[in-house]
Amino acid sequence: MNAPLNIAIVGGDIAGVGLAARTLVAAIASPSRWALYDIEELPHYVHGRAALLGDAAHAMLPHQGAGAGQGLEDAWFLRELLADPLLEKGSLGQVLQVYERWRLPYPAHLLGGRRTLRIPRSPGGRRRGPPGQTLARRFDWLWQHDLLDDVRAARQALGWTLQPA
Ligand SMILES: Cc1cc2nc3c(=O)[nH]c(=O)nc-3n(C[C@H](O)[C@H](O)[C@H](O)COP(=O)(O)OP(=O)(O)OC[C@H]3O[C@@H](n4cnc5c(N)ncnc54)[C@H](O)[C@@H]3O)c2cc1C
Repeated sequence: MNAPLNIAIVGGDIAGVGLAARTLVAAIASPSRWALYDIEELPHYVHGRAALLGDAAHAMLPHQGAGAGQGLEDAWFLRELLADPLLEKGSLGQVLQVYERWRLPYPAHLLGGRRTLRIPRSPGGRRRGPPGQTLARRFDWLWQHDLLDDVRAARQALGWTLQPA
């Protein structure tokens, strides 16, 4: 849903933020209001021979800029296993279980922090470092891991020890 919005309402909402942000918002000629939807964390992505991926499995709010990337990773991971020469018709269910086991934790962790872009604080309440550094590192667990390592581990779990050509 997308609806026009009176600029005075937006101004009231952001009255307490800095001048730069207020100036930017005041420059919007025709502000509009969007409805943004997410879904609760699902316990499973797979049922029998059916699998969910992308937003159908883990629609999240856009604050973390990760929804599309996670969907692409789901698709690539599945593609690597489904195109593997060692795949047999009878092992499809097992492959989907492996897909769920490896792919579910990443979006689940993102969904856990989806409604805010919190800067993590130490238990004593002090910031762990300058906000810029903290923000730069807070997604390392997501952006710095190698999806190919996950595919290798998944192939191993399936007993596919031969490497694809
Ligand atoms: C404002 C905003 C900003 C975002 N910014 C980012 C970002 O910076 N980085 C990022 O990674 N992600 C971002 N996202 C999230 C990203 O857009 C989604 O995660 C991504 O588009 C999901 O892709 P998908 O293919 O899973 O689903 P969708 O893009 O929703 O595709 C599903 C498709 O299926 C079609 N469909 C639905 N029902 C049926 C049916 N019954 N039959 C046939 N077709 C059907 C729909 O029309 C649609 O085309 C943002 C989202 C929003 C709303």
